[in-house]
Amino acid sequence: MKIIMLGAPGAGKGTMASRLSERFGLPHISTGDIFRENIKNGTELGKKAKSYMDQGLLVPDELTCDLVTDRIGQDDCKKGFILDGFPRTINQAEALTDALGKKGQQIDYAVNVIVSDEKIVSRMSGRRVCPKCGASYHLVTLPPKAEGICDKCGTELTQRADDDAETVKKRLNIYHEQTEPLIAYYNNLGIIVEIPGDKNADEEVAKIAPLLVEKD
Ligand code: ADP
Ligand code: ZN
Repeated sequence: MKIIMLGAPGAGKGTMASRLSERFGLPHISTGDIFRENIKNGTELGKKAKSYMDQGLLVPDELTCDLVTDRIGQDDCKKGFILDGFPRTINQAEALTDALGKKGQQIDYAVNVIVSDEKIVSRMSGRRVCPKCGASYHLVTLPPKAEGICDKCGTELTQRADDDAETVKKRLNIYHEQTEPLIAYYNNLGIIVEIPGDKNADEEVAKIAPLLVEKD
């Protein structure tokens, strides 16, 4: 089963994607995570991606499409995958449709995670992450036990460079301009499943999971 996640930055796509990944035993592929891993490891791709990401801009399609096409061609994706953070533009969606089409395949479901802009801004500006273990916190809704310190490993928490208020606004604008049109694209294919992003993630995933059935 091949699933893509749609939704604004900070809507909670990542959380939903990892729940679905566990539930269906499919790999969770997050382009944001792949870029961040490359930045951490100082790769060429990481260096190129960082300048765009820090400014809240999209990484160019040339750097993104091949990366995803390669990744979903790997063995662990034979039974399917959960794509999180890709596609983000119509161009990327078409590249994905083409790459799968060549193999006689297609996306089965586009899960759209819905949250208001207001909520997204407060979520992302309060988000704090552990640079060591990747744990994620929120100043208001999920504070660490000791202020500014990771519960799991004791490391000092940081804010993602692209989570400051101005950059968040820019990311939201880009979402509305470039990514939101994908809802119509996948709606035309009749494969959208909606999920609220501002409620209990486990409960909401449990509600939509039965709708996601193997197609042939
Ligand atoms: P969020 O969903 O909170 O924006 P992600 O981790 O998905 O976070 O993405 C972080 C950043 O990585 C994006 O703002 C963008 O710069 C880059 N990125 C991730 N996926 C893509 C993509 N498919 N196309 C272009 N840029 C991407
Ligand atoms: Zn930690």
